Amino acid sequence: MPHSESTPEQQDPPARTELTPTMEDTTLNLGNGGLTDEDLLMAGVDEVESPPVVPPAAVEQQPPPSSAPEEEDAPVEIKQETKSDIKLEDLFDGMDSDSDDEFSGKNNHTNKDLVTGQVPPSSPGPAAPSGGGSNPDLLRAFYQLLFPWRHYFQWLNHSPTPTPDFKHREFSLWLSGGVVFRFQSYATLDLLRKDVFKHLPERIEIGPIYTANPRDRKTFRNSSAFKPVAKELCFDIDLTDYDDVRTCCDKANICGKCWRFITMAIKVLGVALKEDFGYEHVMWVYSGRRGAHAWVCDRKARGLDDHKRKAIGNYFSVVKGGEKTGKRVNVRRPLHPHLARSLGILKEHFLTDVLEGQDPWREEDRAEKLLMLLPDVKLRVALKEKWEANPGRSSVVKWGDIDSVAKTMGSVNTKDLLEAKQDIVLEYTYPRLDILVTEQKTHLLKSPFVVHPGTGRVCVPIDTDDLDGFDPLGVPTIGGLVNEIDAAGGVVKKEGDDEDRRGAEWERTSIKPYTDQFRGFVHGLLREEREFVRVKREREEEGGLDF
Ligand SMILES: [Zn+2]
Repeated sequence: MPHSESTPEQQDPPARTELTPTMEDTTLNLGNGGLTDEDLLMAGVDEVESPPVVPPAAVEQQPPPSSAPEEEDAPVEIKQETKSDIKLEDLFDGMDSDSDDEFSGKNNHTNKDLVTGQVPPSSPGPAAPSGGGSNPDLLRAFYQLLFPWRHYFQWLNHSPTPTPDFKHREFSLWLSGGVVFRFQSYATLDLLRKDVFKHLPERIEIGPIYTANPRDRKTFRNSSAFKPVAKELCFDIDLTDYDDVRTCCDKANICGKCWRFITMAIKVLGVALKEDFGYEHVMWVYSGRRGAHAWVCDRKARGLDDHKRKAIGNYFSVVKGGEKTGKRVNVRRPLHPHLARSLGILKEHFLTDVLEGQDPWREEDRAEKLLMLLPDVKLRVALKEKWEANPGRSSVVKWGDIDSVAKTMGSVNTKDLLEAKQDIVLEYTYPRLDILVTEQKTHLLKSPFVVHPGTGRVCVPIDTDDLDGFDPLGVPTIGGLVNEIDAAGGVVKKEGDDEDRRGAEWERTSIKPYTDQFRGFVHGLLREEREFVRVKREREEEGGLDF
């Protein structure tokens, strides 16, 4: 439920001003994003470190890691003069999600766009990578006026005043031009904000909470005193992993039709996380282009070690291998209750979103794949003959042909056929996860509410109560939002916290429902945290009496 503790009405006659002059007034010595070596040194991090060694896959079904483990703690200097020589994907290949194409966004919008309000609003269609996701002026306006700082802090801190949960949390800031600051940490929200205003990162990633301040990690070299202790349990789904089953788009392109794969994945994972694992505080966030991330924020999830995270990853590892693996789903019978429940959810989606929406087997060569997944050689031959004699049959019709042809043959084992068809439904619909994101506490994940540099879309929370109503192509873009502020009369000059003062800019833009939802989510999480603290204190007091 959206939380609405503030109202959009104004208390005082607002002193309005156009956005652009105000931004000039509040320019924070950004120098158009130019960083000196001194800046890099002052930031405390002039290097990046490689991801931890991936444990060997415990089971054959484990997808291969997307990058080879590198020597731990091997520093890679990123200095200004070298930044153009280093490709981000080389440094972080496989370490982050959704990273390719992120930095392909161009500064399509100039200051002039901002002044004249000509930045196009949310532009539907996959071939419209606009929205100003890399424009420093737009980023400055976004971070200053629209980013939900206070609730963001509370979400990560779990308390009103700074705790180690916030102070020892790793942030990484991705700047335009290929500079990445890893292992950043902040004692207060103000320090984080100040750093973000200074660098205007195109992307912020969130890592784990460490035993000590991540900036001091070198003090603890060769010691177990510095290690990750907590992190939300995360899931990452990306539509590029569905390229072998979607026909409408491929690669970074998406549309409403293939977004249905994300919708069904969220449904299946959502129910399982709640009913199978007992998690209550699960936030889904649009990745800005072609996928979604889940942040399971329950205290018991944050404390999971990597061994347990791996077990959870395996639990959801149903579609195995890659495109060329052949039959990718081979689940045991009787079906695990989780799979039986998932099939119940997915069957309908299979008929409407896959068979009708994608029509994956209409072409003869694609229909070969369906035949390959069927158990009986004679059945396969009979179907192939039928389809060759009647070209152009749709996937819905071909799916029906399987049972009707099997029936006329009489010799097909109906149990084997049923199970094969269940496996096919799962292969085409069951969530496909980037498993490393789930399994490794140290894995960085793109923060909610940052802006995708390529599309300009904000990484907003997804309302799971209205999952079918979420339109990824209708998500506000940074350019559109700034236009909305201008159209509503510009910035209202008032003292106080940008986020919480009445009549704040975010409330007058289309980001409001997403921010409201985030605030509601954070309030729910904090309620549980307070309850945990209360019960713990009571137990300690009771324990005290016993002695
Ligand atoms: Zn599509």
